Amino acid sequence: MTGDLYRCRICHVADKHAIYLPREMMFGTKEEFEYFQCSSCGCLQISEIPADIARFYPSNYYSMNPQEQPLTQGSVFRMTMERLRVGNALFGRNYKLAKLASYIVDMPYQLNVIGPWLKKCQIQSFKARFLDVGCGSASGWLHTLKQLGFKNLLGVDPYIEKNVNVNGINIMKQHIDQTAGPFDLVSLHHSLEHIPNQTDALKAVNNILTPGGFCLVRIPLVSSLVWEQYGTDWVELDAPRHFYLHSLKSIKLAGEQAGFNLVDNCWDSTEFEFWGSEQYRRGLPLMSDTSFMRNPALSNFTYREMTDFRARAESANKEGRGGRGCFFFQKS
Ligand SMILES: [Zn+2]
Repeated sequence: MTGDLYRCRICHVADKHAIYLPREMMFGTKEEFEYFQCSSCGCLQISEIPADIARFYPSNYYSMNPQEQPLTQGSVFRMTMERLRVGNALFGRNYKLAKLASYIVDMPYQLNVIGPWLKKCQIQSFKARFLDVGCGSASGWLHTLKQLGFKNLLGVDPYIEKNVNVNGINIMKQHIDQTAGPFDLVSLHHSLEHIPNQTDALKAVNNILTPGGFCLVRIPLVSSLVWEQYGTDWVELDAPRHFYLHSLKSIKLAGEQAGFNLVDNCWDSTEFEFWGSEQYRRGLPLMSDTSFMRNPALSNFTYREMTDFRARAESANKEGRGGRGCFFFQKS
């Protein structure tokens, strides 16, 4: 379906772009919202940003975020051994001591996922400065970094109730452009798609990065198998909260407009995108009592179906068609 003439807010091409009408399905109000998909850069975007968007973030919205866990503290000796291992794995330091430490402590499991990301972002030491944007009142990312031995950690989110300090990590109630740098790595884990002006947000990030610093962006992706298979039932379309569902082309373009080079990218979808979308197709909101998210025992999915969803996500990631992507932008 094509509709009125709209101008893409990423590449600025005006056209009768394809129109879609996804519904609010997280809470299940089932209100329809109009989105268009740019015929040039492929970005799927809400036609008009609702003036009353706050209404779609009820008090239980953030309760879905993982809550902050206490830090795992071993003895000073064991923590030192762990730091030696992490320091060697990430920065190539103290090989001999780290080898000795490997007989005493395991490598922290968190390094499996985020170790490669930190290396791509050229993090050089435990003194690196990190900012997490739009993290809510508890940042799993900063928590993991603290657990691994990093010290300079800050989170910002303009929509939290008040400034908080969790396990020694400050999270401030403020916007990116109210935040003073410099930082070596600024991350946006599934927050960029909620921000009205993509280029301005990325420019604000660019301004507070050190020369050569990195911006890690994790977002849902419309250039994906799940969008092809489920269309407007795609769980991570999340109308109207997600204003932008980028394509590979449009996110690269948005980064370049803000003064970044896209250095690398990868896909990190999980089974969620398939079971969540399957629920929406069946008319079941994510927050309903029989949703797999709320109550796995009451959901209709069989063990075999869940295994299949997981396999589909893994294969979509391998083919470069996962519905979630990570982008490593370097300040140019
Ligand atoms: Zn466009």
